[in-house]
Parts: sequence; structure tokens; C-alpha cells
Amino acid sequence: MISKRSRIPFVYTIIPKNSRNAMPINDILITDLHGVGPKAAERLHTLGIRTVRDLVYYTAREHQDLSHITLIENIVADEKCNIRVTIEKIRSHSARRRKMNITEASVYDESGSLRVTWFNQRHIEESLSVGDTILLSGVVKKTKYGLSMMSPTYEKFVRGKETIHIGRIVPQYPLTAGLTQKQMRYFMRQALERVQPITDFLPPQLIAQYALSSLEDALQWIHFPESEKQFAHAQRRLAFDDFLILQCGILLIKQEMQRYISPALQFHQQEITTFVKSLPFTLTNGQRKAAWDVLQDTTQPHPMNRLLIGDVGSGKTVVAAIAMLNTVLNGQQAVLMAPTEILAKQHYETLSRLFTEAQLKHPIDIQLLTGHYKTSTAPGTADIIIGTHALIQDKIQFANLGLAVIDEQHRFGVRQRKALKERSGDTEKMPHLLSMTATPIPRTLALVLYGDLELSIINELPKGRKKIITRLVEPNKRAAAYDFVRTRIQAGEQLFVICPLIEDSEKLEVKSVTSEYERLTRDIFPNMPIALIHGKMKPQEKDAVMQAMRNKEYSILVATSVIEVGVDLPDATMMIIEGAERFGLAQLHQFRGRIGRNDKQSYCLLFTDSDSPSTAERLTALVENSSGFTLAEKDLALRGHGELYGVAQSGISSLVWRAFQQPQLLEESRAAAADALAHDWIQENQELQKRVNAFLNDVHLE
Ligand code: ADP
Ligand code: MG
Repeated sequence: MISKRSRIPFVYTIIPKNSRNAMPINDILITDLHGVGPKAAERLHTLGIRTVRDLVYYTAREHQDLSHITLIENIVADEKCNIRVTIEKIRSHSARRRKMNITEASVYDESGSLRVTWFNQRHIEESLSVGDTILLSGVVKKTKYGLSMMSPTYEKFVRGKETIHIGRIVPQYPLTAGLTQKQMRYFMRQALERVQPITDFLPPQLIAQYALSSLEDALQWIHFPESEKQFAHAQRRLAFDDFLILQCGILLIKQEMQRYISPALQFHQQEITTFVKSLPFTLTNGQRKAAWDVLQDTTQPHPMNRLLIGDVGSGKTVVAAIAMLNTVLNGQQAVLMAPTEILAKQHYETLSRLFTEAQLKHPIDIQLLTGHYKTSTAPGTADIIIGTHALIQDKIQFANLGLAVIDEQHRFGVRQRKALKERSGDTEKMPHLLSMTATPIPRTLALVLYGDLELSIINELPKGRKKIITRLVEPNKRAAAYDFVRTRIQAGEQLFVICPLIEDSEKLEVKSVTSEYERLTRDIFPNMPIALIHGKMKPQEKDAVMQAMRNKEYSILVATSVIEVGVDLPDATMMIIEGAERFGLAQLHQFRGRIGRNDKQSYCLLFTDSDSPSTAERLTALVENSSGFTLAEKDLALRGHGELYGVAQSGISSLVWRAFQQPQLLEESRAAAADALAHDWIQENQELQKRVNAFLNDVHLE
């Protein structure tokens, strides 16, 4: 065997960009390193590297194992190998009318000798001399003069000095034009020397408890490991640092929230029971538990900060209704914020109906406030105010705000919370916060993304719901699918047709949805009432269409993704999704959640022109799974970091991805962070504190 070229998969990248700038290690500009002139410095800048510290945290894309040294007599032609040899002869000459420069050397080791050839690398002759011991890595070819190693990488061997290019496990960095791997390793080696000595910022207790390597070793080994084991240790240590800083940041935010004052709301059991009894259904256990969590939290004089996660159709709205009602019964106001006007209006109607039907002792004054709707001139004094997320940016002044519910948003940012506090009617008071989302996330992710929130999870659907039958329809079965749908429409059921997403061009998207509408009207479902909805329509127009769908004036609604979030039309039982490959799993699952909202059998038909295996895999996952939680994990495994399930692109997404791969390390870091806080290690440790602050400034958790 000549050379073992194993790839150590690379998973580690440092993220919170600024937090590494807070490192106390001897921080010098890269231009101080030997060999970094203005050009190299500029190229390093494009990689985000300005200081030696940036450099040591710039990690390899992969490592190659070039540690195995072969004897010349054992070399096999056409295979890559590494040898350690002495130069016997070396010279350059020009060939082919001087267009080419050829450097030829003859080298030997204890087992034999070999010819080596380089093309157009004149400098080699200058840097190597007869008698030098060198390492070579390359492929040996059979030539008419015998075996010859062609254009190998070389490195001078100096006794007592570690090699960095050959004869070891060698890092391969992501580079930019004009930089070479050799340069980068050369800079890195110096950088690692220059940052010495490194004071480790991790409390020694944690290093011992979690059997971590020192920061010094970790930085050395992440670049120049002597074994896979060392590399793994380095990865673990550096990932632990990142997770720990994240978890400390999250816990600090949580602590800070507890310093605010909120109204302690009494549980008005009697009226709440009356309301729950008046509902047209019995609550599921999940709903009951979630409502209970919320009612418990809000009895405290500090702000609740709870995230309610429940799959589409799990009935989160009614949980919010209970919380809001209890707030109003305490003489406080509640606000409900939705991501779209359609949804705000829908919530307004649902809640008005539920509260009216409950015939409560005190009628609830409930108002709608969005860019286009205003049911009152002074909504700030109503009991319950419903609007879009923009509501709080619109400078509405509340008289006495006790609870804010945010629908379909995972997190209410620090800044948003402050804004809300300022308008709550009492600047000393922070309203309780309840966020609701249908994006189911695996627990690991919840810990990373929402570790500062309390979680309630509804993981069951109301009883009697039939599982939606999902099918991937072959192109040649399209007509049959339309026939199937037509029959059911004639029986009074409703259909959604979702048109392909056209990113970056709403205009094209509107065009495509309009032509699909025309095609269906003309060719497929003539004589059937079809409606159209897209993002370019005015809210009133959209609303009129939704209202007409609700009244069953239409049987078919052709829509763009505007229909995605939250829309609740109980009689819709069928959905066709065109260009299904263009949507992510999360979004497809959201779409599908628009149907199956009653006890009838619902159908979701997926169409795609794509025959790529990844599309097939994704769509099959949707066909086979009805649980959003399972799909979330699948999606994460299929797509990985970068396009995380429902998680917006942000600095945090790479951290999330790594956490997903190392759930145990994440759990450990969480426990460690709790320890750090409990023992005041952060306050006492300037470096840790700096890193945590930098992380908080960088990420904002919004
Ligand atoms: P989501 O969690 O997706 O926001 P909604 O709150 O819109 O779900 O509820 C979905 C539908 O289920 C609504 O039509 C609602 O009236 C109904 N629903 C809610 N809870 C129950 C229940 N316990 N039993 C039966 N139907 C319910
Ligand atoms: Mg909802």
C-alpha cells in the first residue's frame, strides 16, 4: 500500500464572528507574519482573516493523511505516495523552444533511487540543493527513462522540526484565488506559535468534568493533528466552547427577563370553565396542558416567555383565547399579533364568535387593527386587540397591556420586547409573552434556538381527524387526478390548487398563477366556480375571496404561497400542489395543514416535473409522514445546515446544525452553562464574559 488518503469529515466552523475577537491571546495583525505581504494580506482579508487570532480559528475544510512514508522500492506506478529522500542531483533546463522549464532531480533513500520532474517551477532549483533531505508527495509514472515522480509537492526536512505539508495529517483549507495550501499552512504554523501562551478561559472544573482538551492543544490539533483522535478532541473542545457561550448567553437573557415586572394574573377559574364548556369541541390533552402552563406562568409577577409549538391544525388559537380571556378578566389588555392581514382577520372573526357564543358575563371588547382594517378609532383601549406583527411598530399606545400573543413566530426579539414594554401603558411593566408556532422542531434545536423560552408542545391533533392521504402523482396520471377531484367537488367539497413558487419575482408568480387559473377554468373544471388569490392583491380583495370560499361560493381556490400560514377553512378537503419540488418540506407540510380540518377524508396531491433523487426523497418523506416533528428531523437530515427547517438564515444556523449532530455535547454544555451562572464563573472570568457578550451582541436572538 502506498498512501493512505483518508478524509476526516469537516464539521467544525467557528461562528459567532465577533466573539472570537474577544480572545485575549496575543493578537497581532496577520501582516506581522513572515511571508504575508500586502497581496497575501488582501487575500486573507477576503476570507475574513485580519488578525492572527482570526487565522487560528479559520479551520480546514478537510484533512489528508499524508503520514505514511513509502520506500522507493515499494512504490507502485500511478498511485499517489509520500517518500523521504535525499537529493543526489538537481538541475533545470529549457525545452520546446524555451517555452517550458523543466526541473529534474534524482533522489534516493535506503532502498533505491528515483527521478523527479517538475514543470515550470524554476524556483525549486533555487530552494533545493544537493544533499538536502526532502519529503515528496505525488504520483509516480512509468516513462521511457524508468519511473519518475511527476510534479510532486515537496517539503524540506529539517531535523527536530515538524513538517507541515507531507509526512503527517495535513489540513486543506477553503481558499481564495491567489492563496495556496502551502502558504496557508506556513502562515498557520507561525500563527499558532505567535498566539502562545494561550490562557484557557474555560474554568478548570469544566475542563476536568467534561474531559476536554486545553484550548492550546485544541487549536494546535484542529489544524495539525497527529491522529484522528487528536482531531476529534480538538473538535469537541472548540464545539463545546461555542455551545457553552451560546447557552450562557441564553441563560443570561432568561435571567434578565426575570428582572422585569409583569402583572400577576389570577386564574379566574369559573369564567374560564364557562368558556371552555361553551366551545364546540372538547379540548385535547395537549391543549389543556398548554393552557394550564400559560395560566400558571402568568400568575407570576415576572414576564412569562413561552413558546407554544403545535403542529398545523393542533388548535393553538383556542389556547391563546383562554390566555387572553383570563388576562381580560384581570382587568388587563391582551394583544394578538399575526403575520398576515388575512390571518389577523381570521383570528378576529374566530375569537369574536367564540367569545360571543360563550355568553360571558362581561362582553369582551375585541378590535381588529391592521394596515387596512380598523374596527375602532381607539383600539388601544379595547380588551383584546388583534393585528399584524407590524402593530407594535405602528406606535399604538395600550392603556394597560398584560399579555401579548404572537402567532406563527418563534421568537420575539429583545428589541421587539422593549418596544412592547414602552407601549404597554406602564413603562415599568413588561407584558407576558406567548409565541405560537407550527414549525415543529426537534428538541436539540429547541435548546439551541429557544433555550431562553419555556416550551409547551401540543403533539396531538383533535380527535376524529382523519390522516390526510398524500400522493405523488405521476405526470401521466394528471387527468385521472383531475377526474377524482372533480367528483368530490360535485359532492360539495373544496379544493386548493397551490402554484409553484417563483422566487424573486412576484410578477412572474402572479402571471403563472393567473394562467393556471385560466387553464383550469377553461380546460379542466369548466362550469365550476373557481377563485384566485395571490400576493399582489389588496388585502380587501384577498379577504373577499377567503370570505367567499368560507361561504362556499367557490369550490376551487387557485393560490400562491400566500395561503401558507394559518388559514383555516374547515370544508376544504383537497389540495393540489404544483411544482412541489420548489417548496421545502416545512412549507409543504404547512400547505397540507390547510386541509384535513374536519372529520372528512382529505387528499393532498403532489405534482412535480423534477426527477431528481433529492426531490423524490423529500416528497416521499411527505407522503409517508404526517407528523411535523418527524418531517422536521427528516428535513434536517436531508438538507442539512443552510436550509434548516423553518429556521431563517442567520449566524446561528450553522451552530444549530452542529448541535443537531452532537446532541449530547449540547446537553453537556447546557449543564455547564447553568453551573457557570450558578457559580458566578462568568463574572469572574473576563474572557468568558467577553465572549458571551460578544455573542449576545452578534446574534441578538431575534
Ligand atoms: P393551529 O394550531 O394550526 O393554529 P387552529 O387553532 O387554527 O390550529 O385550529 C384548527 C381547527 O381545529 C379550527 O377549525 C379549530 O376550531 C379546530 N379545533 C381546535 N381545537 C379543537 C378540538 N379540541 N377538537 C376539535 N376541533 C378543534
Ligand atoms: Mg394558527
